[in-house]
Amino acid sequence: MRMVQVDSMARILLCLAVLSSKSFSEENLARLSSYSFGTLSDGREVNAFVLKNARGMSVQILDLGGVIASIKVPDSSGNFADVTTGFDYPQPYLDGAGYMGAIVGRYANRIAGGEFSIDGNDYSLAKNNGDNAIHGGLVGFDKKIWDVEFLVGLHDSKLRLSTFSPDGEEGYPGRVEVSVTYTLNDQNQLTIDYSATSDKATIINLTNHAYFNLDGHQAGSILEHEVMLNANHFTPIDESSIPTGVILDVAGTPLDFRQRKAIGLQIESEDQQMNFGSGYDHNFVINHSESGSVSLAAEVYSPNSGRVMKVYTDQPGIQFYTGNFLNGKLVGKDGAVYGRRSAFCLETQHFPDSPNKPMFPSTILQPGDQFASRTIFEFLTE
Ligand code: BGC
Repeated sequence: MRMVQVDSMARILLCLAVLSSKSFSEENLARLSSYSFGTLSDGREVNAFVLKNARGMSVQILDLGGVIASIKVPDSSGNFADVTTGFDYPQPYLDGAGYMGAIVGRYANRIAGGEFSIDGNDYSLAKNNGDNAIHGGLVGFDKKIWDVEFLVGLHDSKLRLSTFSPDGEEGYPGRVEVSVTYTLNDQNQLTIDYSATSDKATIINLTNHAYFNLDGHQAGSILEHEVMLNANHFTPIDESSIPTGVILDVAGTPLDFRQRKAIGLQIESEDQQMNFGSGYDHNFVINHSESGSVSLAAEVYSPNSGRVMKVYTDQPGIQFYTGNFLNGKLVGKDGAVYGRRSAFCLETQHFPDSPNKPMFPSTILQPGDQFASRTIFEFLTE
């Protein structure tokens, strides 16, 4: 293993791991690059890292929030486009950009009333979504600058980000150490491995909040994209998007995506769930053949570009959100305007409000235990 200290970026350890006896080639070095992404208004510098594979796919990640700032993949004619939304400079990521591309934690999605208890101890979180808590609070994992290590192999490259959250931060108990590793291989698979430990019983639910448009981030409506969700059930929500606690069959509802279906086909249905979500904004219960195994959760196809994205995960749920609250006010990369339903999210996760729903799989992390989960985004064409 060869270690290189980068003077201008004291926090960054550039770690080049030669994973075979062959000497390190230029091809390996082409798998990684990094540069300054700019400075936040509070003076913090943000760095960008680009993982590139042998087929030309590239993924740009920021140390701010572990944000996936771009994913460039080919269409069915071999033309590359950037299929995730984002910004050309860092400040918008802090100013309420809908968590674009970011690692979300300590608890992804909503906790009712911002309240929960563990072993009879009550905890209160900031109510940053109406009366509820969402996505880790006012300063969640999406707003931290993470430490970064690079690991480059012969057939893949990895970026490992790590940080911690002190006991009591944002109201959550326990000091949590967390790391997230992005791995890009030559099969156009981006794997995200999450890991966390705590010194007190706490709750944890980690995801990535990338917004996708398979025709290119600036292409406009996603309503023609066709989606398959490997889910026979979903967790219905109330008017404030909190799960009722019931698990319902998707059959006969607009939430039936067991066969590929255009997003736009039933999005305007007169259906209470569609009204409550202002479109699709629901947690689906993934059909896992074995609990904890990595299974196909979702597949999205765009007939316009022929791009396909498959999502695999070991998590019990996936939030399918159709960008209902994007409103065209955000000006993104290259001046792109992100209007309503111009991008979708597939957030692999534990079910929203699990801490208050004893019937849902537990999100409690005990001291001495390790939270570990894996999600894979795979890009293909048809
Ligand atoms: C939520 C949406 C929310 C979006 C941005 C999604 O995970 O389910 O309701 O608008 O994140 O915060």
